[in-house]
Amino acid sequence: MSTKEEEEEREEKGKQQSSELDDLPSSLIVILDLNQASWTESTAKGGPTVIEALESLLTFLRAFFMLHGGNTVTIIAAHPYGSEFLYQSPALQRSKAHGHQQSGALEMDEIDHRLHEKIVSLSKSLKSKSSQENSDSSMKCSLLSSAFALAACTVNRISSHKLLRMLPRVLVLTASTELPSQYIPIMNCIFSMQKANVLIDALVVSDGDCSFLQQAADITNGVYLRPELSKVGSSPGALLSWMISVFLGDKHTRFLNADSQSRSTLLRLPQAQDVDYRSSCFKTGQLVDVGFVCSVCLSIFAKCDFFICPTCDSKIALDRPAGAAVNKKRKVAAGAQKGDDTK
Ligand SMILES: [Zn+2]
Repeated sequence: MSTKEEEEEREEKGKQQSSELDDLPSSLIVILDLNQASWTESTAKGGPTVIEALESLLTFLRAFFMLHGGNTVTIIAAHPYGSEFLYQSPALQRSKAHGHQQSGALEMDEIDHRLHEKIVSLSKSLKSKSSQENSDSSMKCSLLSSAFALAACTVNRISSHKLLRMLPRVLVLTASTELPSQYIPIMNCIFSMQKANVLIDALVVSDGDCSFLQQAADITNGVYLRPELSKVGSSPGALLSWMISVFLGDKHTRFLNADSQSRSTLLRLPQAQDVDYRSSCFKTGQLVDVGFVCSVCLSIFAKCDFFICPTCDSKIALDRPAGAAVNKKRKVAAGAQKGDDTK
């Protein structure tokens, strides 16, 4: 009897905890890639303009605020020169975290105003920077790794703050696809998010896949979505309807048991298909199919033409091609086995 009572008590406690979690507000961290070149390229191929994407995002945020009175938003811009906060809900700001929370509906007017102001000033400063450097900044890719680091800091602050009880998650909106040089910092941020049990969703508005964001979404149980450019670009509300139908639900709406990282879903969301799990070379930044791995720090290299690991300065004893060494070892091992068998 005692065991049955204990089990019932546990079940009740579990139900109470899950209902508490169900009622928790969400904190959405939006990483907005403002790389002009990527958006221009995407628009040229039939996709939406950056303005249309921003309008869809703002309407999506309105819907997000309507889900829960305590929902908060952080918007981080990534550009070729770094990243910066465009907006953060008053409830998340250090000085106001103890005060009352502003309701989402009122907050939207503030977001509209602040985003417009910040993006105009940001585009001016980017233009002046690119003209000062006399280089074509449009050729550089956005520093998404820096934006991911800011998002990780925000997640850490939310989860370590006693008064901020909310579920953080990340949504990346980008038109860029190639970020090989930022592989290491991005993967570090992704693993820290995975440890913090934070979903990373990615909406890629491009005609090619972004393998790192595919990996990020797959590792953290988030959703990676790359809608067809022609379909999204042709009708004005298409991007918004994708965003609302795929990215609006929080973790407890998507999964039956959100804490156990189970894949049994309540919503039928797009599933990951053919995730490109290739790593990139730590020296050149290029994607690698088969490479050399440092036995000390696990750095990956496409070619091993050095004797000291560039990452950890460990000596590498490699005087012949790796394939030859392996073959010889196998032959030796096979010979030894034969010898054992004959004995
Ligand atoms: Zn090393």
